[in-house]
This record gives sequence, C-alpha cells and structure tokens, in this order.
Amino acid sequence: MKNPFSVEGKVTIVTGGGTGIGESIAKEFAARGAPVLIASRKVENLERVRDEIRHAGGKCEMTPVDVRDAEQCDKMVAEAVKQFGRVDVLINNHGASITTPTLNLSPNGWRAVVGINLDGVFFCSKSAARQLIEQKSGGSIINISSTAGVHGSPTMLPYGAAKAGVINLTVSHAGEWGSKGIRVNCIAPGPIDTEGAAPRVWPNPKVKEMVARSRALGRFGRVEEIAFPCLFLASEAASYITGALLIVDGGDAPRAAE
Ligand code: NAP
Repeated sequence: MKNPFSVEGKVTIVTGGGTGIGESIAKEFAARGAPVLIASRKVENLERVRDEIRHAGGKCEMTPVDVRDAEQCDKMVAEAVKQFGRVDVLINNHGASITTPTLNLSPNGWRAVVGINLDGVFFCSKSAARQLIEQKSGGSIINISSTAGVHGSPTMLPYGAAKAGVINLTVSHAGEWGSKGIRVNCIAPGPIDTEGAAPRVWPNPKVKEMVARSRALGRFGRVEEIAFPCLFLASEAASYITGALLIVDGGDAPRAAE
C-alpha cells in the first residue's frame, strides 16, 4: 500500500532554497525521493545546498531567480520542467525584511519588501499554476508567511503587511484553482533560529531569551519543524486541505508560572 505521507517522485520547487528554512525544506524533500529545484539570487548558496543534497543521494538542480521579476519566475518553472519533466509542488519560501519605524521607511524600502514577499509569491504561483493546469495533474502550492502576517509587526511594517497579503492570496488561489486539483496552503512560522532572521528579529541574547519565553513551548523553532509540515501539506495525506493557514510558532498561549 502506498504511504499517503510520501512525497517520493514529486517534483518540488523551493524558492529561497539556499539558506535557512528553505535549505531544510529542500533537504527533507530530497531525502524522501522528491526531485528538487532550488532557486534564489545567490548562486553560491544554491550550489552548496545542491552539492550537499546530491552527496546525500538526492536529486537536486538549481537556478538563479529574483522573484520580483515575473519573467524570471516563468523561467524558474521552465527550468524545473526542463530538468525533471514536470512540476508537482511549489514552496514559496523566499522572504526578506528591514527593521525600521514608519517615519524612517522610504518608498523604495517599502516597495522592495512588499515586492519580494508579496509580488514574488504572486509571480511564482502564477507561473507554477500555469504549468500545473497545462499538465492536468493538480499539485500543491505552499506559501511561507509569518506570524507577523497574522499579528502585525510594529518594527517590520512592510514585512507584516506583505505576509498578511500572502495569507489572503493563499485563500484566493485555493478558491481559484481548487477545481483544477491545485491545493494552496500557507504556513506561518513563529521564531525559527536562522542566520537570516537572527540579526533583525533577536539582535542580542536578552531579546532572544524574551522571544523564547514568549512561546508556550519556551523555545525557538528548528528549521525542520517548518519543513515537516511542508512534507505533510505536499503529500496525499493532506488531499482535502486547501486554503488553510497552519501557524507553527511554539504556541502563542500564556505560559503558566513556573
Ligand atoms: P533566510 O535564510 O534569510 O531565507 C530567505 C531566503 O529568501 C534566502 O534564501 C534568500 O536567498 C531568498 N530571497 C530573498 N529575496 C529574494 C528574491 N528577491 N528572489 C529570490 N529569493 C529571494 O531566512 P529564513 O528564516 O530561512 O526565512 C525563510 C522564510 O521563512 C521567509 O519567507 C521568512 O519570511 C519566513 N519566516 C521566517 C521566520 C524565522 O523566524 N526565521 C519567521 C517567520 C517567517 P537569496 O538572498 O539568495 O536571494
């Protein structure tokens, strides 16, 4: 009997797959037999992850992309088709932020952050959905938002707004493409200890301790704790789940006194 949680053979595109959470997603999918295409701007990160995945026996290709450019997103999807013959899963994991109060935020700063986090998800999803519809195969799109998209963020305004947009886009795309068998879901991570997030979100040990203590579980998340729910959402085990928001944040519940 086929394992309903399997992603074996599912061709998976992971944006931002050269670092942090995306690197973990790419490695966990490849380790379970999914051919993976990783894509982002910095080729040196992509090359390292590709080589590590291949060394571990997985299938991985890479392609440079700036997700703010719709044509580059089309090319990314075309590259997956060229390398692996089809696409089954897109994971919109790319993201970026700046920490600035509103009065110091320039129009360019706002546009850059919204362009990466929101436009990028729209462009990549559109390119992938076109391919999935042409294949008549259905498929799965997983958007990585943030708890900042749920609660807002007083220091990362454009990031919070764009990530909220990603949650909304998830529901709209789920409705638009459900009849084509394309499921679209969203994961909103809480604090996950990555090199990308650390300097912006917990710049010193005191803040880091405070952030950890704000979680019901009293700690930061690990990258694979986002990759594992992605595996589930991409698999047949999640075949009736679409338009969903899964918050993976260690619990936003008040902690009992110790
Ligand atoms: P990260 O290592 O900085 O990952 C972000 C990735 O996005 C990088 O690999 C980066 O690659 C890619 N990227 C940025 N701009 C891009 C662009 N214009 N085009 C293509 N790729 C681009 O940080 P992370 O913590 O792993 O974050 C991964 C995702 O989780 C992000 O969406 C982030 O918002 C979300 N998230 C993280 C946390 C956390 O606590 N860590 C919490 C909530 C949500 P290049 O620089 O090579 O382009």
